[in-house]
Amino acid sequence: MLETKPKHNGEKTGKAHNQTIEATLNYSTYFCALMANDNKLQNIIGHCKEYGFIFQSSEIYDGLGAVYDYGQYGAELKKNIRDYWWRSMTQMHDNIVGIDAAIFMHPTVWKASGHVDNFSDPMIDNKDSQKRYRVDHLIEAYAETLEKEQSDALLQQMEQLLAANDLAGIKQLIEDNKISCAVSGTCNWTDVRQFNLMFATQLGSLAEEANEIYLRPETAQGIFVNFLNVQKTGRMKIPFGIAQTGKAFRNEIVARGFIFRMREFEQMEMQFFVKPGTQKEWYEYWKETRMKWHLSLGISADHYRFHDHVKLAHYADMACDIEFDFPMGFKEVEGIHSRTDFDLKQHQEFSGKKLTYFDTEINQHYVPYVVETSIGLDRAVMMILSEAYKEEDLSADDKVDSRVVLSFPPMLAPIKLAVLPLTKKDGLPEIARDLINECKPHFKCFYEEKDSIGKRYRRQDAIGTPFCITIDHQTKEDQTVTIRYRDSMTQERIALADVKNLVMDKIKMF
Ligand code: ATP
Repeated sequence: MLETKPKHNGEKTGKAHNQTIEATLNYSTYFCALMANDNKLQNIIGHCKEYGFIFQSSEIYDGLGAVYDYGQYGAELKKNIRDYWWRSMTQMHDNIVGIDAAIFMHPTVWKASGHVDNFSDPMIDNKDSQKRYRVDHLIEAYAETLEKEQSDALLQQMEQLLAANDLAGIKQLIEDNKISCAVSGTCNWTDVRQFNLMFATQLGSLAEEANEIYLRPETAQGIFVNFLNVQKTGRMKIPFGIAQTGKAFRNEIVARGFIFRMREFEQMEMQFFVKPGTQKEWYEYWKETRMKWHLSLGISADHYRFHDHVKLAHYADMACDIEFDFPMGFKEVEGIHSRTDFDLKQHQEFSGKKLTYFDTEINQHYVPYVVETSIGLDRAVMMILSEAYKEEDLSADDKVDSRVVLSFPPMLAPIKLAVLPLTKKDGLPEIARDLINECKPHFKCFYEEKDSIGKRYRRQDAIGTPFCITIDHQTKEDQTVTIRYRDSMTQERIALADVKNLVMDKIKMF
């Protein structure tokens, strides 16, 4: 999505939400709430590292900023979310197909899409600390220290200046408000400059400008340029959609919030091609359908809100974000955009190839309009982690106890079933292995025989395994096992023969 859309909106960054809190709580309670959320984020980051979900990239070399690696459980979780999205789009809609376009594209694609000229953020550098800031982040952070009225006025001024692309005016605003650098503490600023977010690299061995290509900053363009290939070979009739998941790259200057804002991330995008004039009804349809998808993850409705864009990008006639209540406040997890015929027309013009559709119902050729849904997979992972992460105090009577549990929806859990023989002998491991062999073609299982059952349960809670089966001596006698449920921690005795179907039933996606 191009930067020309009005992304510099205080409300979009969760500020409006924070201000509502601020109005109802006194100042110290407000800061305690912020600290608690910050702690929650820090705890999630620590937990993700400790339990093999997410690691800093190249950690042994002190890491690479805003680049992360998914570990053994994170990769499973991410794959399950991707699969759920993919199947929701391409399996549950008979008029949506999926493709897998290359990351490298012809450089003119990015000229046509407007990314070469417009995909930039206004930045300012502090001359003393050499630290670079995105100006909206710098001003927003300062606004947070002000009373509501002053803060609103400042943000409004900022938005007007950004909308008018008045970079000198923005610098003046920073200077007038004496906004200083957090590192040097000085107000010694450079001019505000636009900084393009695309990563460039060379194709072939010659470092000539003509060979310069970009790592794609969004997956959508791979869909636009394949529009006719898919329409013709799939004999698709409008309305129809093309979905794709894949990596995107943005040289984000201020990358923060763990996997919320990364330089290498994954998107799940779907472009829905419609007859011109019908885009409003399809935009409403996709707003509702995407929200239903989010709610089907078991997340409560009050953790979501729509943020309708008031000022629209030049190519859009309607746009909104689905925002989720992250530990840092309400922030965008998905965008829904009615992109008109802008992209296809641009590609038509730059490539010189016709990108029209012949509508047999009205006997007319036209360039279709497009409604896009675009969700960041890593942001979806962070959303699921934020929602699932719970620190529970289980103290009872004189016993102090607690646990950290990840209450993932069972269909998304990295491990669905842990099978735990009570002891390492008496034939119990063999029964456990047989059960795993029966289940593993259908879902991911985990076997463990070390430590007490209680400790093993806690470890499974920490990685979010919804079901644990304990094999004990009674199993040998009556072919029953104990099933223990992660969220309620209740246990019951069921037939060994029923385990596979019980789990399969609970992890069904549809
Ligand atoms: P933001 O305003 O947060 O920079 P955006 O409006 O530029 O996001 P889009 O271009 O609409 O985002 O991209 C669609 C989705 O891709 C976003 O809703 C988000 O989930 C995801 N996304 C965008 N940039 C990043 C990033 N740097 N890291 C992780 N996910 C991202």
